[in-house]
Amino acid sequence: MRFVVTAGPTREAIDPVRFISNRSSGKMGYAIVEAALARKHQVTLISGPAAIAPPKGANLVWITTGDELYGAVHAALPKCDVLVMCAAVSDYKPAQVSSRKMRKRRGAFSLKLVPARDILASLPKRRRYLVIGFAAETHDLARNAQKKLRAKNCDAIVANDVSGSETGMESDENEVTIFFDDGEKQKISRASKKFIARELVKIFAKMFEKGLTKKSW
Ligand code: C5P
Repeated sequence: MRFVVTAGPTREAIDPVRFISNRSSGKMGYAIVEAALARKHQVTLISGPAAIAPPKGANLVWITTGDELYGAVHAALPKCDVLVMCAAVSDYKPAQVSSRKMRKRRGAFSLKLVPARDILASLPKRRRYLVIGFAAETHDLARNAQKKLRAKNCDAIVANDVSGSETGMESDENEVTIFFDDGEKQKISRASKKFIARELVKIFAKMFEKGLTKKSW
């Protein structure tokens, strides 16, 4: 099976020395890549600037901005069976990027942000590949994840609670609930990201084998 996995944060430039980003470490996405490679799947890893070294054996594409990620995902789709959108993409980007370092001024300062392109929402409604989204939530996990599943037309959403420091972003451990398109859900209790990744890869491969994609035929 051919996996395309996005991982890590994106960065949106404000000026030559500053950017907007997030705390994504890339650990969950990289663990999924490792687990897929261990099961002999073919893997393309599209990675933002993560805190750790990427696993060896994947076809590696580095990106920095959300627009670069958008382009890399669409370029990889013709050879994809399972798309795993684990990257933490910035929802907004500065309306303008200053070509010079911005000077400090007196008083308050506000920066105009515009919405970034939503990659999941840009995918065709009917397709032959499986699409898995991720949702990092600090509250109303189930409600928000199910809303995202519908709004972003995913086959499943892997949701995790990032309100504490024990699991989620930057941590080596996680606890996730997978919400499927047919209304079913499955919880994977607190464990290492590597263990959770192995379970997720098995679940995604089974879904693809069962043909649970939004097929065009
Ligand atoms: O809306 P939110 O950013 O929480 O959704 C998370 C999911 O959507 C992740 O799978 C992420 O990779 C994806 N996403 C995207 N394009 C964006 C923002 C998020 O595909 N611009």
